[in-house]
Amino acid sequence: MIKKHRLQRIAIVISVSFVAVLAILSIVAKIITGGRTGSKTEIQEYSLYDIDSPPVKEMLLTQNVNSRPGIALGSVNGIVIHYTANPGTDAEANRNYFESRKDEPDTNANKVSSHYIIGIDGTIIQCIPLNELAYASNNRNSDTISIECCHRGKKGKFSKSTYKSLVHLTAWLCGKYGLNRDSVIRHYDITGKMCPLYYVNNTQAWDKLKDDIWNYVLSHKKKDNKD
Ligand SMILES: [Zn+2]
Repeated sequence: MIKKHRLQRIAIVISVSFVAVLAILSIVAKIITGGRTGSKTEIQEYSLYDIDSPPVKEMLLTQNVNSRPGIALGSVNGIVIHYTANPGTDAEANRNYFESRKDEPDTNANKVSSHYIIGIDGTIIQCIPLNELAYASNNRNSDTISIECCHRGKKGKFSKSTYKSLVHLTAWLCGKYGLNRDSVIRHYDITGKMCPLYYVNNTQAWDKLKDDIWNYVLSHKKKDNKD
């Protein structure tokens, strides 16, 4: 009987120890997994580029069904370049036009906006936060950031100041979202609309713009990542 009791006691001690070891192992495993998840997030958020945001004047639209629906933007897979098709007008006037849509009927024709507008003088106005959808690029509204550019003439060529701000802003966005040269597209590439007009009519000018953006990105590659 005594032997049996001893054996029972030993069996209990072994079982308790086994459970304790399992518990410790599971805690250790959780810590390790937690650590891995953390580093993965860090890697995803780590940018290869040192690009500062250009100066941006924040003039967010009032939330409304037409121009700022407040719909969350999912992943960003592209930057869409537009022109205002409104020669001689500045960034603020175009922003105010978007804002005025809030007092109009809830119709598709009134659904128009853009994340950014760049003025002829190079001023950048932000109308919509980057985590919200804008109504600018049809079926690509849900996964792109839109940039409207003001222009002096009917042909829609951007001024030097607009061009400079556009290159900087787009390069910064490419760095921020880990996009490549071909993620920068024209409204034309989505729907065939003649927008941005000058850069649809002049393929070379469009290629040059994309080169200028991409060279800007590459020239701001972090030092420890340079080949
Ligand atoms: Zn457009």
